[in-house]
Amino acid sequence: MPSDIPALARDRVRLPADTVYLCGNSLGPLAEGVAAAMRQAVEVDWQDKIVRAWNEAGWHAAPARVGDRLARLIGAGAGEVIVADSTSVNLFKLLTVGLRLRPGRRVIIVEESDFPTDVYIADGVARTLGAEVRRIAPDGLEAALADDVAIVALSQVNYRSGRRRDMAAVTAQVQARGALMLWDLCHSTGAIGVDLAAVNADFAVGCGYKYLNGGPGAPSYLFAARRHHDAIDQPLTGWHGHAASFSFSPDYRPAPGIARFLCGTAPQLSLVALEAALVAFDGIDAATLEHQAAALTGLFIDLYDRDLARRGFGLATPRAAAERGAQISLTHPEGYAIMQALIAEAVVGDFRAPDVLRFGFAPLYVSGGDVATAVARLVDIVDSGRYREPRFAQRKAVT
Ligand SMILES: *Cc1c(COP(=O)(O)O)cnc(C)c1O
Repeated sequence: MPSDIPALARDRVRLPADTVYLCGNSLGPLAEGVAAAMRQAVEVDWQDKIVRAWNEAGWHAAPARVGDRLARLIGAGAGEVIVADSTSVNLFKLLTVGLRLRPGRRVIIVEESDFPTDVYIADGVARTLGAEVRRIAPDGLEAALADDVAIVALSQVNYRSGRRRDMAAVTAQVQARGALMLWDLCHSTGAIGVDLAAVNADFAVGCGYKYLNGGPGAPSYLFAARRHHDAIDQPLTGWHGHAASFSFSPDYRPAPGIARFLCGTAPQLSLVALEAALVAFDGIDAATLEHQAAALTGLFIDLYDRDLARRGFGLATPRAAAERGAQISLTHPEGYAIMQALIAEAVVGDFRAPDVLRFGFAPLYVSGGDVATAVARLVDIVDSGRYREPRFAQRKAVT
């Protein structure tokens, strides 16, 4: 079981010494160059240029420029991706757009076990527009796809189980029934191969602070296939999505292209951080990420079979590489305490109620050695019973 898998670019992120960080699917680490870029934005651009920085520091153009920069990681073309708002807000925009593009159809399909915000937002859109949400089980898509479905929103990789969907097959299945396909790429981009053009996706969203390392609360990105742009009627008609924001016209006219998805003023300091963080992916394509993630998760599963299966752990992630993301989820009845003990020993994963231990293998900076260390510490923590110390039982606000 060779664990000599070097990280792709460990020196492009800053992690505390001796920490094995397997939580990049929750919050990515600080990338090299981000602190300097933020210092420049605050102490030069903001401090000295003040309002002129919107023009002179390239702030105004940042949402489109950063969108174009990350487009290659998801197989999108120039002008098809924009950075704005949060994933939740972008889901609201795109689900509404989907219903408006399919008049006469009034159903949104979501997966019940998807990330809760996706389900909550679908419910909110439905209540706002008088539409209906059809919640499906993971394998319930075909049965739910009737002629009343306007749009289907699914994660490529499930946040809890790490299970991956076949994007090409699902997109074709949905479009064959006349519906639109919206992919949530929060647990995909920067972690595994994504090719929106190849699968003919209609829309996608994803978040900037997980595998892209954009920092806490980094803005989200939104993809809309160019073929839809002219017909898109976006509900959050803020002034930055106007065709001429600085004409201050009392009447809304949508900007041409992807810019019509903008709403209010961008969180510019967060955009600076995200843009600088993306430099860490220079020279690394999605196929390389895919290959590395498969090797790391494959190694973890091998070590699970050898050391963890007989210590009370279960494997919640599919074994086939094509059916899993860059994440492995284990179950254990005492999972919360075990994860707290593991974190105390500098192997950082996280926990999702009721019993899931999540391990994210960000291909950028995780190595095979990290995988081996994580499993060895888990074995030691369980065999020694250390996780039973009372301090590991206390629930924190963020798990
Ligand atoms: C992390 C995540 C989100 C986050 O949404 P925000 O609005 O950016 O907080 C949404 N959907 C999925 C599937 C996620 O994993």
